[in-house]
Amino acid sequence: MAERRKFKKRYCKYCEAKIDFIDYKDLKSLKHSLSERYKIMPRRLTGNCKRHQDMASQAIKRAREVAFIPYIVDRKNVVETPFDYIK
Ligand SMILES: [Zn+2]
Repeated sequence: MAERRKFKKRYCKYCEAKIDFIDYKDLKSLKHSLSERYKIMPRRLTGNCKRHQDMASQAIKRAREVAFIPYIVDRKNVVETPFDYIK
């Protein structure tokens, strides 16, 4: 339950920001759909709509391929806010 509280408000952040296309280079928008271990967050937690979730997961997979975000995070390297390190 404590985990759920983080995602209390369920709305699509991409719809709210009126994003039509999620670019894989745009890490700021990708991070809505990434966990702290760079895993793609499931829709039931983020509240994203199907359309944007598909776009986000596609973009995240592309971003992984070009090494903008790591595929796996080492247990030692887990940090609370991984996006401080990307930038
Ligand atoms: Zn949406």
